Amino acid sequence: MTDAKFVYSFGGGTADGKSEMKNLLGGKGANLAEMASLGIPVPAGFTLTTEVCTYYYDHDHTYPTTIDAEVDAAMAKVEEVMGTSFGDPNDPLLVSVRSGARSSMPGMMETVLNVGLCSATIPGLIAKTGNPRFVYDAYRRLIMMYSDVVMEKAAGVEPVEGQGIRQQLDRMLDDVKETNGYASDADISAEHLEDLANRFKAKVKEVLGKDFPDDPREQLWGGIGAVFSSWNGKRAISYRRIEAIPDDWGTAVNVQAMVFGNMGDDSATGVAFTRNPATGENLFYGEWLVNAQGEDVVAGTRTPNPLNEDTKNEQNEHLQSLQIAMPEVYEQLFGIRNQLEDHYADMQDIEFTIQDGRLWMLQTRVGKRTGTAALNMAMDMLSEGRIDKPTAILRVKPEQLDEMLHPIVDPAAEEAGELVAKGLPAGPGGARGQIVFSADDAVAWTKAGKTVLLVREETNPEDVEGMRAAVGILTGRGGMTSHAALVARGWGKCCIVGAGALEIDVLAKKIEVDGKVYTEGDVLTLNGTRGLVYAGELDMIDATENPRFVEFMALADDIRVLDVRTNADTPDDARTAIEFGAEGIGLFRTEHMFYGTGSEEPLFLLRKMIMSGSVSERRAALDELFPFVKRDMKATMEVMGERPVTIRLLDPPLHEFVPQSADERAKLASALDIDGSELDRRAEELHEMNPMMGHRGVRLGVTFPEISEMQIRAILEAAIELRQEGKMCFPEIMVPVTGMKAELDDQLEIAKTVHAEVCSKYGVDEVEHLYGTMIEIPRAALTADEIAESVQFFSFGTNDLTQMTFGFSRDDIGGFLSDYLDKKILPVDPFQVLDRNSVGVLVKTGIERGRSTRPNLKVGICGEHGGEPNSVEFCHLVGMNYVSCSPYRVPIARLAAAQAQINHPRS
Ligand code: ADP
Ligand code: MG
Ligand code: MG
Repeated sequence: MTDAKFVYSFGGGTADGKSEMKNLLGGKGANLAEMASLGIPVPAGFTLTTEVCTYYYDHDHTYPTTIDAEVDAAMAKVEEVMGTSFGDPNDPLLVSVRSGARSSMPGMMETVLNVGLCSATIPGLIAKTGNPRFVYDAYRRLIMMYSDVVMEKAAGVEPVEGQGIRQQLDRMLDDVKETNGYASDADISAEHLEDLANRFKAKVKEVLGKDFPDDPREQLWGGIGAVFSSWNGKRAISYRRIEAIPDDWGTAVNVQAMVFGNMGDDSATGVAFTRNPATGENLFYGEWLVNAQGEDVVAGTRTPNPLNEDTKNEQNEHLQSLQIAMPEVYEQLFGIRNQLEDHYADMQDIEFTIQDGRLWMLQTRVGKRTGTAALNMAMDMLSEGRIDKPTAILRVKPEQLDEMLHPIVDPAAEEAGELVAKGLPAGPGGARGQIVFSADDAVAWTKAGKTVLLVREETNPEDVEGMRAAVGILTGRGGMTSHAALVARGWGKCCIVGAGALEIDVLAKKIEVDGKVYTEGDVLTLNGTRGLVYAGELDMIDATENPRFVEFMALADDIRVLDVRTNADTPDDARTAIEFGAEGIGLFRTEHMFYGTGSEEPLFLLRKMIMSGSVSERRAALDELFPFVKRDMKATMEVMGERPVTIRLLDPPLHEFVPQSADERAKLASALDIDGSELDRRAEELHEMNPMMGHRGVRLGVTFPEISEMQIRAILEAAIELRQEGKMCFPEIMVPVTGMKAELDDQLEIAKTVHAEVCSKYGVDEVEHLYGTMIEIPRAALTADEIAESVQFFSFGTNDLTQMTFGFSRDDIGGFLSDYLDKKILPVDPFQVLDRNSVGVLVKTGIERGRSTRPNLKVGICGEHGGEPNSVEFCHLVGMNYVSCSPYRVPIARLAAAQAQINHPRS
């Protein structure tokens, strides 16, 4: 018992629904209703709501009891508007049965056209139209779609590969064309089509064991049921998973009077975008085919014609445009295009059909677009006065900016490309090159003028030079915050990690996957934005400089309240980040200077310090190291000028720096004046069972105060010298891996002493700086009120905090993450998107407790999440002062911060 309304009518200038009712009517149904109300010519029809779909699945594939009556009444309205009747032998109304979910799922669900054609109605339609060719063309299409969608897919028949009913019928159609020399579907004669339809029916019976239904009502309900069950078809389910569309939304079904683009040379069908979806250019852009129906335009059976003269391209310039072929209809269509843009204030993707010179609109929806197009359209529509600034800012997805900052793989080439494997999208953009399997080879091959991709099982700090040299990086293991991912993203370098299907053998220099082998020198192409690996060399598109980009980002900056800093360890990275709009450095990692180019000498001195046997030895080594550390910090601070620079004290466990090669060990032993076995013993002592939770971060500073002392001295002296040279700088000293206030007090004593010494050395009263800590251990977040008494700022290290909260190792999660995602145990990788329910609670608690004892506590984030839009929104919501992310993500974070402010204003 229910009095809910399950069926909504549209057509004849009015409609029960409107575009806001997408949840109930689906996108297609809601917009058909809206167009009908706007007075745009839309064939009359009705929509069975998504609630019917929900009911259908909740009630064992049955319908609400009132549905028959509602459908009959709605059909009667359609008949009245169209002047024909469904199933009438003399003047039959034909309908389409179309799916339509809330958000569009292109090509995922099913549509059946020409429903209502049967032995009783065929003669009447022939008599009425005088066009048997058209009628049999419509009939053979009905049989093809219906047998495929209703009798095979919806019935759960799983044909052998290549033996689906649709494919079998397609082959029969091709035979007819071949035997009779027909160039295209449109040339087939009425007789051949009639014969084909009869043979189709026999084939359907033979293959599926059932008669093709000859009753209009049976066809109609068969079609409706098939659309509902297509919601749970394999393709639709996997599409929903990729697009994160909930399974319980359901689809609506639209039943709509047919209009025919296949009635002859005054008839046509087409699709169009109100503006160019690839570039955003304000030109009406589309394709059409004369004497065709439905999907013909996109099916690729004939090369479609261009819509107008302005948008012809190489493929279609020899074909007649609609503008020339049917100028009046084109003018009307152009008028509707303008009307729709005025009404929706956004680019629309439309479908239309022309029947005997009369135009009908069949669909409109907000069109999908590239990042470049999204940005250009937003700025154009802003200057056209169609939208306001906040709307313009919301029109571009932050991730879409990526496209504008990196060269990308040509999407057309990707479609045709041979997919080798999937991994995690760790570094953006595209890259292609010859594969090599060691960092040294990457460097050597690059020096020799080759373009290479570095392939490793996983990377470690010793691979950094090779990673720099390679145009892209591919690993078999590791997650989104593994070494390779962090490094690549920091550089904005294309990188795919955790491509688990690849069996990488670096010694044999080969990859095996699916029985195929790729060896050193073979070419692969990576799409780092999507994590896809392709065989061979795919075309790339260059990310061109776009002046609109700067203008757009300035708008975003006006709106946002979150500051955006960068994670950078070198003057070069700092410069790049400033170009991308960074307002400071949120994370400068001291240890960076011990990796990569020019690191040889400081690394050697660091190792000497680590392997020292006594405090005095260690001090001597630190004194030697000091000038390098100071020089490095000074150079980066100089680039940043008046922008603050947060410098984190040494973080990794010391054993990471212990040399592995015999050669280097010998050199080190002699410098320390000890023998090899003593060195080995000292190295052994540094070994830890669980270094990530071992002797690292502040714990090193507690055990070896002289290490902290040296670093703090380097920071403060560098700062004074810059000031004395007349330059601005604002260093912030940051202590990592803190769990207790007492640790900070211990280090603060050192900082105070060093500060006093440095001031007297340079003859100044004070060196302006802040003292703060990372919050990356749950205990620190929970005792943030105590901790805040000792520091002026917090920076949430959400990589470690996520690791500690979930108990997932950052470096090993790649091995099982995909199982967790596939089984929906995790909705997303928590190292990519901050988990608001756990890590987020710790962050929020940490901020609240911290500010309870220090109200003006400055708070930021420096984990990888700082450049991920959803996480940036979270940082905005919990009242952080800034986010910090790798240089190439700075624009993404700026936009995400602006959108967060628009959606959740904060003063
Ligand atoms: P999709 O969502 O996959 O685009 P549609 O429901 O839009 O599926 O329909 C598929 C094709 O059939 C489209 O080209 C559409 O324009 C056409 N079509 C649908 N209904 C009708 C109709 N009533 N008259 C003429 N063509 C139609
Ligand atoms: Mg469509
Ligand atoms: Mg950390």
